[in-house]
Amino acid sequence: MVKIKFLGTGTSCPTLERVSSSYLLYVGEKKLLIDIGPSVLRRLIEHGLNVNEVDLIVLTHFHVDHSGDLPAFLFACNYGLEPRRRPLYLLGGDGIKQFFRNLCNCYPWIKPKHYDLQVLRVVNESYLWNEVKIITKRVNHNRESIALRLDMGVSLVFSGDTDFSRNLIELSSGVDLLVVECSFPERKVKGHLNLHTLRKMIDKAKPKQVIISHLYPEWDKRMRDSSIPCIIAYDGLEIDIG
Ligand SMILES: [Zn+2]
Ligand SMILES: [Zn+2]
Repeated sequence: MVKIKFLGTGTSCPTLERVSSSYLLYVGEKKLLIDIGPSVLRRLIEHGLNVNEVDLIVLTHFHVDHSGDLPAFLFACNYGLEPRRRPLYLLGGDGIKQFFRNLCNCYPWIKPKHYDLQVLRVVNESYLWNEVKIITKRVNHNRESIALRLDMGVSLVFSGDTDFSRNLIELSSGVDLLVVECSFPERKVKGHLNLHTLRKMIDKAKPKQVIISHLYPEWDKRMRDSSIPCIIAYDGLEIDIG
């Protein structure tokens, strides 16, 4: 059984209802965090978790709405009530190691003090982590942007931010659940999906279930729109898979 908590479902335009998009996965005893933008740390605490309980963080890309709370997270691992001892993995696309080094140059206090941190670049390949097979592919947003698929009895895909992407179609083909950005209902902005481009991708990939997230405020008027063929995520949504 895998549980997903939607800690945030918003964008670079945070609102009280939606903080930056971030997903917490419970896989057996392990906890995986996908993206960690502003206010996600606060959301973790609201869900009764502290930073020392997260085992792996994936950054789909480096935009601030996906990475802004990472220094605060790492700082808390050193200087929280209990210093972190549990190993931590940080996984991302091209440039993840340099990104981490740059953060450490700005904030030397985030270098791990009492625990082991592994920073891993995983691009267009698969990586086996504690019986979770993580497969990534580049998507159309930033040069480092990746989508990821997790296989562990059930299969999940997280798109990160992307425009129409053949790699994302391939990755999410027949998957149990696709969590996909759909920034705007109608407006088309380069680097992002709207309902029209998303439908084209779903028709090809045929995932079993689709949840849309990374939603700009213009979605607020569409939350009860029954013509939308997928679940519209909200902060606090929880889903059990498997
Ligand atoms: Zn974003
Ligand atoms: Zn972005």
